[in-house]
Amino acid sequence: MKNYALLGFPLSHSLSPEIHKLLFSFSQTEAEYTLAQIPPEEFAQRANELFKLDGFNITIPYKLDIIGMLDEMSVQALQFNSVNTVVCGEKNIGHNTDVFGFVSAIEQMGTSFKNKKILLLGSGGSANMIATQAVISDCEVTIAVRKTSLHKAESLKERILSLFPSAKINTCSLDDSIGAHDILVNATPVGMYPNTDACPVSEEVIANCEYIYDLIYNPLSTKLLESGEKLGKICSNGLSMLVLQAMHAHKIWYDADFSNDQIACVIAEMTKILLDKVK
Ligand code: NAP
Repeated sequence: MKNYALLGFPLSHSLSPEIHKLLFSFSQTEAEYTLAQIPPEEFAQRANELFKLDGFNITIPYKLDIIGMLDEMSVQALQFNSVNTVVCGEKNIGHNTDVFGFVSAIEQMGTSFKNKKILLLGSGGSANMIATQAVISDCEVTIAVRKTSLHKAESLKERILSLFPSAKINTCSLDDSIGAHDILVNATPVGMYPNTDACPVSEEVIANCEYIYDLIYNPLSTKLLESGEKLGKICSNGLSMLVLQAMHAHKIWYDADFSNDQIACVIAEMTKILLDKVK
C-alpha cells in the first residue's frame, strides 16, 4: 500500500482526494490519498512528517515554502520557483505539474499554447507560471490587472524580461480597451463562488478573443464563460487543468499513464460532484 497526501490550508473544499482515488483505481494501484491540512503557524514543525510518505502534492499557500525542505527540484519547478508535487525517497525531489496541467488543458480545447497572442488576467501565483510559460512558448502576452495592481503586473513583466530579454510582454488595466487575442486566460478569482455575478472583463474584450480558459471551476460556468459561449467562443473551465496536473503527478510518482477516455471520465465525475454540491 502506497501513501500520498495533499498539503495545504484550508483544504475543506478540495476535490483532490476524489481525483486521485479515481486515478489510483484506473492504474490498479493500492494507495491512500489523505488531506494534510496544516495551518501556517504549525507548518515548520509538522510539514516534515510528510516526507515519510511515498509522495505528496502541495497547494496554496505552501508551493514556495516547501522548497527549503527539498534536496532537488525539476527544471520546471526551478523555472517557476513553485513546487506542487514531491517524490519522497533517499532524496526528496520537487516538481511542478501545474504547468503541464495548464498547457494540456489549453490543448484539449483544440488549440496550442505556442506562438499565440495571450491575454492573461491577473498577476498572482498562477499568472506568474502562465506568463513565464507563454514566453517560453514564443507567445506574445498581455497581462491585464486591476488599476491598483498595475505595479504588480509591471514587476512580473520585469522579472520575466530579466530571464528572457526578448520576451514579448505588455501590461494593461482590466478596464483598458484591449485589442484582439487568440486566447484569454482568467487567472483571477473574479467570478468564483460565492461572487458568481462578477466578470473580470467587458463583453467587448471577450468578443476580441477566440478561446477563453477560466482557471475557476466553481461554478463550472462563470459569467466570463457564459459570455464567451454566447459569443460563439471556444470555452473551458479550470477542471481540466486540475485533473491533468493530478494525472501528471501519477506519472512522476510511479510512471502511470492514462488514456484520454480515463481523463474524460475523471473530469465528468468531478463535474457531477460539483453539480451535486449546488443542488
Ligand atoms: P493568487 O496568487 O491569489 O492571484 C490572484 C490574482 O487575481 C492576483 O493578480 C489578484 O490581483 C487578482 N485579483 C484578485 N481579486 C481581484 C479582483 N476583484 N479584480 C481583479 N483582479 C483580482 O491566486 P492564484 O493561485 O494565482 O489563483 C488564481 C485563480 O486560479 C483562483 O481562482 C484559483 O482558484 C484558480 N486556480 C485554479 C487552478 C486549476 O487547477 N484550475 C489552479 C490554481 C489556481 P491583486 O494583486 O490586485 O489582488
